[in-house]
This record gives sequence, C-alpha cells and structure tokens, in this order.
Amino acid sequence: MADNRVVEGRMVTPKALAERIEGDSVMDAEGIEDADFDCPDCGESVLSVGYMPGVASFHTGYKCQECPWSDIEA
Ligand SMILES: [Zn+2]
Repeated sequence: MADNRVVEGRMVTPKALAERIEGDSVMDAEGIEDADFDCPDCGESVLSVGYMPGVASFHTGYKCQECPWSDIEA
C-alpha cells in the first residue's frame, strides 16, 4: 500500500482522498492515479481515484494536487 500521494501539501491514502472528494465516508478505494488532464482552476496536476461510496455504486473522483478543485464521475 505504497500509493499514498501528496494533496495540498498533505500525504493521503486512497481512501482518505476518496472521502475528501465524496465529502462522506466511503467503503473502499482503489489506488491513486494521475489523471490525463490538468486542473481547470490552477493548471496543476490532477489525481484520480476509483472508489465505492456504497455496496452498489462506483465513482471516479478527481482532485487537484495544489488547490481545492475536485470533481466526481458517478
Ligand atoms: Zn487546482
């Protein structure tokens, strides 16, 4: 589980990143990956993480590494 990443200056686990994007607790999260686009607000790198907010759903969350921008693809 060495895929913790730095987001806004803090080291986060995939689950912590997913919960921050979702704004609620999540059941499970996959590894953090680099998204193939830059932040629309500040132009910095965006991370993506796939996660399950509940048993029957899967979201892909996006979070800028440098600013508060985030998005959810349900
Ligand atoms: Zn940004």
